[in-house]
Amino acid sequence: MNSIHDKISSELNLIKQQHLFRDIPDIECGMEKYVQIKGQNFLNLASNNYLGISNERFIVKSSIKAVEKYGTSSGASRIVSGNFKLYDELENEIAKFKNTETGLIFNTGYTANIGIVSALANKNTVIFSDKLNHASIIDGIVLSRAKHIRYNHNDTEHLEYCVKKYKDYPEKILISDSIFSMDGDIAKLEKTAEIAKKHNIFTIIDEAHATGVFGNGRGLIHEKSLENIIDIQMGTFSKGLGSFGAYAACSKDVKNFLVNKARSFIFTTSLPPAVVGANLGALKFVQNHPEIPAKLIKISEDFRLFLTENKFDIQNSQSQIIPVILKDNEKTLKAKEFLLSKNILVGAIRPPTVPVNTARLRISLRADLNDKEIEYVKNTLMELKKEILTD
Ligand code: PMP
Repeated sequence: MNSIHDKISSELNLIKQQHLFRDIPDIECGMEKYVQIKGQNFLNLASNNYLGISNERFIVKSSIKAVEKYGTSSGASRIVSGNFKLYDELENEIAKFKNTETGLIFNTGYTANIGIVSALANKNTVIFSDKLNHASIIDGIVLSRAKHIRYNHNDTEHLEYCVKKYKDYPEKILISDSIFSMDGDIAKLEKTAEIAKKHNIFTIIDEAHATGVFGNGRGLIHEKSLENIIDIQMGTFSKGLGSFGAYAACSKDVKNFLVNKARSFIFTTSLPPAVVGANLGALKFVQNHPEIPAKLIKISEDFRLFLTENKFDIQNSQSQIIPVILKDNEKTLKAKEFLLSKNILVGAIRPPTVPVNTARLRISLRADLNDKEIEYVKNTLMELKKEILTD
C-alpha cells in the first residue's frame, strides 16, 4: 500500500458514507423502452434516447450498410488516414439540418466541447459561461487557461453585467447549453444572442438535449431563428438522435480552424463507420418523422403540469428532462429504490453532478411512452409521495 492506495480507500469510504457512491448498473439489453436488469423488466426513464429510436430498423440498416462497405474501424484520425466519404455526407447533412455553411464531426459531446473551447480560447480570452453548463464545457475552459466567468444560471442581466465588467479583454466567448441537462430548463437564447451581438462576442450553444426534440428536431437555435448570430451550434447524436458522437455546425473558416487546432479532433481515431452510418440514418429518420418530437413535447408538457399540480418540485423544467428535487442524497436514493421496486428506472442525481442539497430524481421522458405507461408512472409517483416524501 502507498499513499495513493490510502487516498483511494479513504475517499471511497467517504463517498459511501455521504450516499454519493455511484455504481454501474448491469443492463441486459439495448436502450429500449424497457430494460432488463437481473432478469426483470424496467420502464426506462433514465436514458437520453428521448425519441426511442435507437433500435429503429431504418437507422440500424444505415449503420449495417456502412459497416459492410467500410468495415469496423476508421483506422486513424481523419487528418491522417481515417477519412471516408461518409463523413463528408454526414457533415453536409448536419449543415443542412442546422442551416449552417458546414459541420465538423467529433467523437463525443464531451470531446467536442473540450476540443472546441480549448482551441478557441487562451490566456487572452474571457469566457462567459452559465453556472449550470455541462461538465465538458467547464473542463474545456479549464484546459484553455482562459479567464472563466460563470454567470448566474439563466440570468441574462448578470451576464450583461459580467460582459460590461470584462469589456477590455481582447477576446471574448459566450457559451451556454440550450437545455440544461439536469434541470431541463431552456436558456434565454434570444436575449443571450442579443447580448452577444451587441458586444460582438463569439458564441457557442450546446444543443445536446434539444437536438432531435425542439424545432422539429433541429434544435432551439433553429426554432428561434438565431443561426446568423450563433457562431457554433454544438450538439450530439447520442441523445435524441439515438446514436453516438457529436458535431459543430459552423462556418467553413471555423471548421478549418478546428480541424487544425482542436486537439480532441486531431489526436484521436475518428468515429467508426457503424456510428457514422447510424448518424446519417438518424438525421434522415428524424426529418421524415416530425410527429415523433412533437409527441414528446406534448407528453412532456402534460407530465410537467401533472407534477406541478401535485406539488412536486420540478424547478423550472420546460422540456422532456424533468427533475424532481428531493434535496437529500439518502432520500433520493430511497426514492429511486422505491421506483425500481415498481419497475421504473430513473436517475438519482446527486452532488457533484448537481449542487449540494439539490439531489433529485431525473426523469427523462420518451416519445414512445403510451397512455397506459404514463398513467402508471403518474400513479406510482403519487404513491412515492405518500410513502417516502411526506416525512
Ligand atoms: N453537453 C451536454 C449539455 C451534455 O448533457 C452532455 C452529456 N450528457 C454532453 C455535452 C456530452 O455528450 P456525450 O455524451 O456525447 O459525450
